[in-house]
Amino acid sequence: MFDTLSERLTATLRDLRGKGRLSDADIDATAREIRIALLEADVALPVVRTFIAKVKERAKGAEVSGALNPAQQVVKIVNEELIGVLGGETRRLALAKEPPSVIMLAGLQGSGKTTLAGKLAFWLRNQGHTPLLVAADLQRPNAVNQLQIVGERAGVTTFAPEPGNGVGDPVDVARRGVQHARDKMYDIVIVDTAGRLGVDEELMRQAADIRDATRPDETLFVVDAMIGQDAVATAEAFRDGVGFTGVVLTKLDGDARGGAALSVREVTGQPILFASNGEKLADFDVFHPDRMASRILGMGDLLTLIEQAEQVFDAEQSAATAQKIGTGELTLEDFLEQMLAIRKMGPIGNILGMLPGANAGQMKDALAQVDDKSLDRLQAIIRGMTPAERSDPKIINGSRRLRIANGSGVTVTEVNDLVNRFFEARKMMKQMAGQFGFGGGTRRQS
Ligand code: GDP
Repeated sequence: MFDTLSERLTATLRDLRGKGRLSDADIDATAREIRIALLEADVALPVVRTFIAKVKERAKGAEVSGALNPAQQVVKIVNEELIGVLGGETRRLALAKEPPSVIMLAGLQGSGKTTLAGKLAFWLRNQGHTPLLVAADLQRPNAVNQLQIVGERAGVTTFAPEPGNGVGDPVDVARRGVQHARDKMYDIVIVDTAGRLGVDEELMRQAADIRDATRPDETLFVVDAMIGQDAVATAEAFRDGVGFTGVVLTKLDGDARGGAALSVREVTGQPILFASNGEKLADFDVFHPDRMASRILGMGDLLTLIEQAEQVFDAEQSAATAQKIGTGELTLEDFLEQMLAIRKMGPIGNILGMLPGANAGQMKDALAQVDDKSLDRLQAIIRGMTPAERSDPKIINGSRRLRIANGSGVTVTEVNDLVNRFFEARKMMKQMAGQFGFGGGTRRQS
């Protein structure tokens, strides 16, 4: 998702680097490139127009700032406008003061509602809630059963109509589901509703009836990000027919161009709350406009990486490491911890996807060489060093290398490799952090 857009935007903005000042013609040319990139990514035309107009106006009127060079200024503006298009602040789920809260899911068939119901329930359960799934999709023959299966996987209960009573009335099932939650002290009810292949009136009426019967605290419009331009028309139809309070984007793992993600908030005025990016229960996250924007701009989702690292380390340590990366003061001890943390954070491929675009090639190559076995050896070598050597690897001369090699059962070449690779990685990370003026010494702008 967003790969092409990201590449084009990064390339366009990179072309500005090195220019001492930007003329209006430079800004117009950049705006034109950004416009093409957005249109190619399938972003809705009115959204593109507003976006470009704002970027141009702000870039031309930009004050000369001591902290930022002109290219950084434009990157900052584009980043801020992207965040705006994606919704600005992260919007959290609005729960009722008096439980149970009701979350109703609406969307086309195949948009990923049932899958999402399971993911949402799993996520809420992990946060200490006791969700109940309600199967009010009685249209698709297998829908109730599918919901029960995802419910079991997520470790939550599913309320479903008793079999054998004909098709049943989805509105009645939804109403009884909410009552059941109230009686049995579930604090959140997730109501899965029926979708059709296309927008039709009966579907809208049924969803509206379920809405009236359950009075949801949140009605989430679930939309497949891969349907491109159609997402906008579908969103408008659901907004007018049922109304919704938030959007969930699904299938962000697909290779679509991403226009839906960039259009739906602006066109409907409703925020994106969650993003789904795979078929597994855990492939789901709160949608953060700022992180998505920096990902699109090719600065990588460093925040997500840091947050994941925080789950492994404590927050203070992670912040300290991020600071050290920016200033190039990373030690071998930090280096080892980072590698071990990366290993705990999941498959290396997922993490690589979050790294910034511009220098990512080199970085990816460097990281790809790190498999679990070589990590064990690295760990042994670093453990064989004295604390002084770990914190100041420059002092590791020939005789120290020999001692470390003997002590950790490796060859001197391996010790050399490690030390050299460390210096290279430290330099690369520092460059990456400083690429757009972020991290380390230039913190005023972030
Ligand atoms: P519903 O008809 O709206 O309930 O849609 P389903 O939940 O049945 O999903 C339709 C198909 O999309 C299923 O094959 C899901 O496994 C798949 N799916 C749902 N969410 C995602 C996602 O985030 N990524 C991918 N790759 N597939 C998804």
